[in-house]
Amino acid sequence: MTEPAPAHSAPLPHTALHAYVCNVCGSDHVTRKAWAAWDVAAQAWVLEVAFDYAHCHRCMGDARLDRVTLTSPPPAAITGPAHVAPG
Ligand SMILES: [Zn+2]
Repeated sequence: MTEPAPAHSAPLPHTALHAYVCNVCGSDHVTRKAWAAWDVAAQAWVLEVAFDYAHCHRCMGDARLDRVTLTSPPPAAITGPAHVAPG
């Protein structure tokens, strides 16, 4: 994979949640170029590899991502995921 292993520093009481944001505008509406492979057992496309290329949907262009640690649950964790099953 392309992510370096995180350095283990002070232990956290709970597993910390992280987000990736655009380092220009701070938006979390960012995506990575990736390959998905069809999983016959799951009957779904499953992420196989994520490449380094990132795109910010606010800047509408190439992006560099910053990994940030969340200090409170994201809204989706409270209201429930709003994901739509792909086609
Ligand atoms: Zn951006």
